[in-house]
Amino acid sequence: MTSQRSLYSQLPATDRLLRDASFSTLLEEFGHTRVVSTLRDMLDDAREHIRSQETLPGWNADWATAAKAKLEASQRSALLPVFNLTGTVLHTNLGRALQAEAAVEAVTQVMRSPITLEYDLDGASRGHRDRALADLLCELTGAEDACIVNNNAAAVLLMLAACADGGEVVVSRGELVEIGGAFRIPDVMRQAGCRLVEVGTTNRTHLKDYRQAAASGSVALLMKVHTSNYQIEGFTKAVSEAELAELGHELDIPVVTDLGSGSLVDLSQWGLPPEPMPKQLIEAGVSLVSFSGDKLLGGPQAGIIVGKKEMIARIQQHPLKRALRADKMTLAALEATLRLYQHPETLVERLPTLRLLTRSAADISEQAQRLAPALQTRFSERFDVRVEPCLSQIGSGSLPVDRLPSAAITFTPKDGRGTTLGELTQHLRTLPKPVIGRISDGRLWLDLRCLEDEASLMEMLSQ
Ligand SMILES: *Cc1c(COP(=O)(O)O)cnc(C)c1O
Repeated sequence: MTSQRSLYSQLPATDRLLRDASFSTLLEEFGHTRVVSTLRDMLDDAREHIRSQETLPGWNADWATAAKAKLEASQRSALLPVFNLTGTVLHTNLGRALQAEAAVEAVTQVMRSPITLEYDLDGASRGHRDRALADLLCELTGAEDACIVNNNAAAVLLMLAACADGGEVVVSRGELVEIGGAFRIPDVMRQAGCRLVEVGTTNRTHLKDYRQAAASGSVALLMKVHTSNYQIEGFTKAVSEAELAELGHELDIPVVTDLGSGSLVDLSQWGLPPEPMPKQLIEAGVSLVSFSGDKLLGGPQAGIIVGKKEMIARIQQHPLKRALRADKMTLAALEATLRLYQHPETLVERLPTLRLLTRSAADISEQAQRLAPALQTRFSERFDVRVEPCLSQIGSGSLPVDRLPSAAITFTPKDGRGTTLGELTQHLRTLPKPVIGRISDGRLWLDLRCLEDEASLMEMLSQ
């Protein structure tokens, strides 16, 4: 007890610490309020340490350094930039599409200045916030009108709530998908207040299945969902959007599609696996198509619905639209991104998603060969560092089974131990700009497909 009391008495007083010269830069950088509250927390920790361990904490010798570390750690953003060397270009957990420079500039501008978000300069009447973008989207997809919301999940919910109006929505059993993060088509249907009518089987659905379901007379919509994160192979049959649109036309029931990713350009022109385009579905007679802004489109998180004028008008007027609408920063980034598509000749160069997806394996391999020697020198004591061919993924449920040939730098622990590998990945994760790779086959793989700023990575790793 006495020894504890003497330990407590060795703890410094906050006032004295604050007067110490070593604290003046901390006070300047972090402000009086935060420094004082940090010191109070540290004093509590120190008392707890004395109570449980009967010794002073190690950092008691240098409160300024300990306080600085604590303050800096608390300032570290939760949205820290990282190197995405996972090989997945559209990595949902790493923020999906990187924004084009034009989008970054557009966002900065609307953050700094009032803008004509819902303001019509001609009539000074209240305009409609999706107007300018809707015109651009119509030009790019051939649709009559468009609506923009927070993400594609919101777009699907809104589309169903506004257009099915509590009625039945017919979907093939092969398309009752779950996207990550609890987005499941049957649940979304329930939330939107409509009744799901399942038709066909997991592997085969025919046009006559939709026709039979529609005979009930209470069907509001026929729906297609793009099975973006899996593929059914073998003895299969699905009804195309065009066939379904024809049936819808005959029965006077609108056809809607959740396209998931969708691409505004034909990806096969760069040798990439083809992904359905909203334009093709509109041409095929689909009434509404929804897709994401931050998947293959390469823009900000957003949900886009394009299609028939009168259905979009209903969507725009639905109360959920107000709850799900996109903010001005999203709209600015999306507008700038869409404008890049008006200039297809420079798209690959300016749109990061497409630039990364179209990098050739030869180019990536050359980069890996260039960087490997320095990494071998740095890590050779414990790891066998090599350049290996590998396969990148597009990600975010786009083109799930297709892989893009790429190259990686691999780190195999010389002692063959998983813990050694764990230490390396932990080390890379705690760097000022963490490096995120992929572990497979007892090795760490750094797929260089998404490495554009090679100089800063190498400088950081050499320290
Ligand atoms: C990705 C995806 C969604 C969800 O889109 P978010 O923009 O992530 O909300 C919905 N449906 C399909 C088919 C998808 O691929």
